[in-house]
Amino acid sequence: MNERLTQTLRRAAQSNPNGMATVDGDRRRTWREVEARVARAAGGLRALGVAEGARVAILSLNSDRYLEAYYAIAWAGGVMLPLNTRLTTDDVIYMLGDAEASVLCVDASFLPLVAQVRERCPLLRHVVFLGDTGAQPAGAMPWDALAAGELLDDACAAGDALAGIFYTGGSTGRPKGVMLSHANLVSNAVNAVYMIGYQPDCVFLHAAPMCHLTDGMSTVALTMAGGTHVFTPKFDAREALRQVELHRVTHLTLVPTMIAMLLEVEGIERMKLDSLRQFMFGSAPMPDATLHQAVAIWPGMLFLHGWGMTELAPIGTMLPLAMRRPAVAGDRLRSCGQAMPNLDLRIVDAEGREVPRGTTGQIVVRGPTVMLGYWRRPQESAAALRDGWLQTGDAAVMDEDGYVYIVDRLKDMIISGGENIYSTEVENAISLMPGVAEVAVIGIPDDKWGERVHAIVVPREGAQLDEPAVQAWARARIAGYKVPRSVQVRRERLPLSGAGKVLKSELRAPFWRAHERSI
Ligand code: ADP
Repeated sequence: MNERLTQTLRRAAQSNPNGMATVDGDRRRTWREVEARVARAAGGLRALGVAEGARVAILSLNSDRYLEAYYAIAWAGGVMLPLNTRLTTDDVIYMLGDAEASVLCVDASFLPLVAQVRERCPLLRHVVFLGDTGAQPAGAMPWDALAAGELLDDACAAGDALAGIFYTGGSTGRPKGVMLSHANLVSNAVNAVYMIGYQPDCVFLHAAPMCHLTDGMSTVALTMAGGTHVFTPKFDAREALRQVELHRVTHLTLVPTMIAMLLEVEGIERMKLDSLRQFMFGSAPMPDATLHQAVAIWPGMLFLHGWGMTELAPIGTMLPLAMRRPAVAGDRLRSCGQAMPNLDLRIVDAEGREVPRGTTGQIVVRGPTVMLGYWRRPQESAAALRDGWLQTGDAAVMDEDGYVYIVDRLKDMIISGGENIYSTEVENAISLMPGVAEVAVIGIPDDKWGERVHAIVVPREGAQLDEPAVQAWARARIAGYKVPRSVQVRRERLPLSGAGKVLKSELRAPFWRAHERSI
């Protein structure tokens, strides 16, 4: 196995040397320039002791230097550790310690953490500053200085060698370090280039956090295709729309909560966004209401629904091209598509037997993008990888044509009086109620039924909602036992993880505090 992360960059520089590689504010660089900067920055990292297997963390908002760091770490033979930008200082310290990182790359927004991190992470030897030279704190090496140093020969780490440790966003508990190899990331990129159709003329906007693979997979895949990366530091609906117009962005990947925020921008229905070819979404359940609204605004757009997880580097399924047009796909837009070209994907029962089509079971996946395991967690790795099959923990249905419909995370499924209730089905029904901006459905303790369905509803501005009205709406659409027994109307938005997913664990916590288990 010879897959190398750095090969994707070398190919871009070879096949599209003068093509625009990165656009970050006023900074623009060609692929030839980016390759040279990466090779030099790798030399700088080597001088800081980064050699085979050394862990280098990145804690930064999106930027061109983030992409350069991704590649320079691999070029030097190191292992990248892209840290979630919404973490608390304690979480950052935990992960740096757990992974034994020796170098931390930070941008200006995370500088306030550095003193504490240095004090509490004895193995951390160097801090590299991803902001502009001149603004770096004492003792930190500016990235541009590294990128102007001596060229290093590519260390050529490849195949099963560890390329990165990606801590999962933690939407279901304590983050685990997912170990992804060069082969994992490159195999995923090949899949993505093929399925998305990335070409040198594609322009991708990094609007979702680059630390998360929903966005990160395009860091590698679009590079492989020699396209153009545009960066915006963090998601802001108006700013993302401005960047799309300004840079003629062709591809955008967002999680559903971000799409919902775009749809709230005043005048959105009049914005043509005519450069945009594909609107890619996934990473969390897409509420029916958000999807309907997006399709109504952009009927001619290609909507690419995908499903994946960090453990799959990350894509597991995508809608095929023919099914991305709303007029053709119809209800199939709700499907997250078919297995990626080189993956075996099955829906199985609790005993691991494949279930008949149309029956709900757990998705299991086998193939070259399946992670190596969880960093230093042999038991959890063994539980997740059985005979090479990744146990995804996601419940889904597959139809006769191999289309997969995500039903729920098994951990979010509510068992009430012995009946399985999928939270996303209840959420979808309520999301369609006029006046509902956001909704999350969780299981809360119930002495009689074990768990009962509880809905947390955030009304749109000016809308009046109450428990009986929400229950009546739901009762008209879903089976009686799935109707929320209780409804809380909440004024502030739902809590989100760094990747923009609703933190159900946080919503459940107050209800389960006095109980032993929380699902
Ligand atoms: P975290 O567990 O921290 O959220 P991941 O980003 O790896 O980290 O999350 C993967 C999970 O996101 C999947 O297991 C699944 O539950 C959810 N997910 C991903 N894509 C979709 C999708 N298209 N529809 C519904 N859920 C999705």
